[in-house]
Amino acid sequence: MRVGIGTDVHPVEAGRECWLLGLLWPDVNGCSGHSDGDVAAHALCDALLSAAGLGDLGSVFGTADPRWAGASGQELLAETARLLHAVGWKVGNAAVQVLANVPAIGPRREEAQDVLSSVLDAPVSVSATTTDGLGLTGRGEGRAAVATALVLPS
Ligand code: MG
Repeated sequence: MRVGIGTDVHPVEAGRECWLLGLLWPDVNGCSGHSDGDVAAHALCDALLSAAGLGDLGSVFGTADPRWAGASGQELLAETARLLHAVGWKVGNAAVQVLANVPAIGPRREEAQDVLSSVLDAPVSVSATTTDGLGLTGRGEGRAAVATALVLPS
């Protein structure tokens, strides 16, 4: 067994669709980025790549590669799982915590867990916290996510 850790931060951009935890959040400003700006999906990818010793999101899905422009968090997660399987790992479980003022994650936690668990074919736990008004998440300038993952030999 191996564990990994991942972090991601993106700026909030007014008028952009909000994709977070593999879900679309209507009437919430999304995050800018090369892909859909889903910090939670990206942190999970990083944690999985970290656990498998495959580098990180930037080295695997570089912004210079046009294949990943506009890619959804779910697409990146599915490709990450495929890369893990290709080198003899499967996902044991994963956890991701979102740091943000909005959206409120609680009411859609189950939905997010179902979507992410389905993509990774393993249990994914979702949690969230605010930063009590401090820092870039507190000021609403950005969103962050931290994730851990456990991988097992397949
Ligand atoms: Mg990112």
